[in-house]
Amino acid sequence: MDDWQKVIAFHGHACCILAIGYRAAKLALSLIRETSDEGEQPVALVETVDCSTDAVQVLTGCTFGGRRLKVKETGKYAFTLGYPSTAGAVRVVLKPGVLSRSGEAFLKLMEKVANGEAGVEEKEQFYNQQEYLMQYILNAPAEEIFDTQKVKLSPVPAGFKFQFTCCDNCREEFLSAYAYRVYGKVLCPTCAGML
Ligand SMILES: [Zn+2]
Ligand SMILES: [Zn+2]
Repeated sequence: MDDWQKVIAFHGHACCILAIGYRAAKLALSLIRETSDEGEQPVALVETVDCSTDAVQVLTGCTFGGRRLKVKETGKYAFTLGYPSTAGAVRVVLKPGVLSRSGEAFLKLMEKVANGEAGVEEKEQFYNQQEYLMQYILNAPAEEIFDTQKVKLSPVPAGFKFQFTCCDNCREEFLSAYAYRVYGKVLCPTCAGML
C-alpha cells in the first residue's frame, strides 16, 4: 500500500481536502530534519480540523493521543511541522484559488455532500467532478499549490502530571493542572465556565 492508499484507508474515502493534507504533510516532511539534535520527534500544528488532519496524522505520526498534534483554528489550510527546539519548523500554506479553481458551482456541490444534503445524482456528479481537482492537488508541482515559510514552534506543554483534584461543584475528578480557584472553591474548567 502506498502512502496515499494508507491515508485513504485511515480516513475512509478519497477527497480533495484529504489530498491537501497529504501533499502538505509530504512537502513539510521533505523540508524538515528527521529528528532534532536532542532526538525530539516532530510536532504538527494544523489550522483547520477536517479531512486534511487525518492525512497529517498518518504521514507525520503526530496524533492527538500522542500530544504532538496541536490545533489553532484560523480556517486556513496551513500546516506547521517541526521542532520546538532550535531545529526549527516549516509552515506550508495552500495558495489562494487552488480549492476554488473548479468554480463556485463545484464548491457548492462539495458543501452539500460534506453536509449530507446531496441526493444520489448530486453525489455521483460530485465524485466525477472532484476527481479532476483531486488529481491536480495530488500531482501539481508543490510550489504551484503551496507557499512555504520558516517559523518557530512554541514549546509543547510539559509532560503529564498525574495529580488529581475533585471539583467542588460537580464532584468529578480531574487533572489538577486544569483547576480553577473561584471564590474559595476549586472548580473544573466546565464548572468554572471556561469551556
Ligand atoms: Zn474527506
Ligand atoms: Zn466541575
